[in-house]
Amino acid sequence: MKENNCPVCGSSDISRSKKPLSITEAFSGNRTVDVVTYHCNSCGSDGDFFDENQGLIDEAIKHSQSLVVANVIDYFERNQTSLAGMERALGLPQRTLTKWKTGALQPSSSAVSLFKFLRIYPWLLSVAEHKYDYVIGQRIHVTDALKKVVDNMSFGNDTFSSGFMSSDRKSFVYLSVESSSESVPAQGQSNQPKVTVY
Ligand SMILES: [Zn+2]
Repeated sequence: MKENNCPVCGSSDISRSKKPLSITEAFSGNRTVDVVTYHCNSCGSDGDFFDENQGLIDEAIKHSQSLVVANVIDYFERNQTSLAGMERALGLPQRTLTKWKTGALQPSSSAVSLFKFLRIYPWLLSVAEHKYDYVIGQRIHVTDALKKVVDNMSFGNDTFSSGFMSSDRKSFVYLSVESSSESVPAQGQSNQPKVTVY
């Protein structure tokens, strides 16, 4: 078959057009690639007749994935996490994160997945820092979940906070409610912060 002819019927009467293709990757936003479509005016076939798009799409996906990792690294840096500490916790060679961030090194698909999980569950990094100890990992998880619940609680202007305390033998999760009221406490009531222990 001659080049630039319809691969179905061989006609040279083909037209080429471009249309935008949106590529969405969590934590890197949308990216649009102009993909090529051919139409054969003789037999009516449509498609990417000469395989021009796959390379462009692959390139755009790679770029988006690099951006995912760069954005998540930024997030951790903004939250005062050191890159060297992250590399140690995750068992990555030194300066890997900087190379991913600058685009000097392309993160693997599994690294991209890991970083998406880390962005949704940043406490996974603490689990890694504790060498994946099962019990500590469960505590970190539950404490984070409780904090989320408490952070979304609201009763007037009272301030809620939660935390986790543990010793070798005991541990407890606490929920603290601090009254913001400046008024004189009603009779029989205390204006002291109330603490509920679970
Ligand atoms: Zn054709």
